[in-house]
Amino acid sequence: MRIPLRCPVCQEPLKKEAHRFICPKGHSFDIARQGYVNLLLKQSDKHFGDAPEMILARHAFLHQNYYQPLYQYLTNHFHSCKGSLLDIGCGEGYFTNALCQNQDLEVYGVDISKKALQIAARELPAQFIVAASQNLPFFANSFDEVISLFTPVDLNEIIRVLKPGGSLTLISPGPKHLLELRQCLYETIKEKQIKEINQEILPVVKQDSLTYFFDVQSSEDLNNLCQMTPFYKRTSQRQREKLKQTPLFTITADFLIRQCRKINE
Ligand SMILES: [Zn+2]
Repeated sequence: MRIPLRCPVCQEPLKKEAHRFICPKGHSFDIARQGYVNLLLKQSDKHFGDAPEMILARHAFLHQNYYQPLYQYLTNHFHSCKGSLLDIGCGEGYFTNALCQNQDLEVYGVDISKKALQIAARELPAQFIVAASQNLPFFANSFDEVISLFTPVDLNEIIRVLKPGGSLTLISPGPKHLLELRQCLYETIKEKQIKEINQEILPVVKQDSLTYFFDVQSSEDLNNLCQMTPFYKRTSQRQREKLKQTPLFTITADFLIRQCRKINE
């Protein structure tokens, strides 16, 4: 491990020992048996991230490979990269796995959910850290690459940890993403708004979209897909029942992929 972690208490570098990380002032953080480390301090522990059932639903759905084209896209996209990569909001690591295929990359995954990292760290050769994306436990100019998939990001914090000239790959739902599922759940569909990136701070150097259709194979998969989306919380029991009764259908996957570069200071 070459990128030093930053002590969340005193901001000094943490040193890795056999079973813990420790800073010069003696703040110590145990490495869990799955291999991740929890650097979230109790007093800032207000957000636990995704609910456990949402994490399990996502894990089950993704392992049916419905998003395999995006996995493949990432494998190709990072195929010839070198250096250090941070996956922010990595969850249970389905896409982090695509990044780990390139053995020239030293991969770090951060998520606020301990439950998600228990799954990720068990299966993958990356360093996983429980931390908040607004307060990343790294020093400035640490990473060659940062990636974030479907996570609200703090761009200033990403800029801080990126090396000058480093890249951010931002993957968000495109306008047609899961359109048929939304049509099934709601009477009226709002056009998805794509959040603009401040071009002065982090210019977008490449924009791509990946769109395809997939057939849901079982009502369990459909339910898992629904549960892993942010609109699940906004659906009523009646809407969920309606979804259960609906025959299986074809769904659009639509991903917007933006690559931004940190300008040299
Ligand atoms: Zn410390």
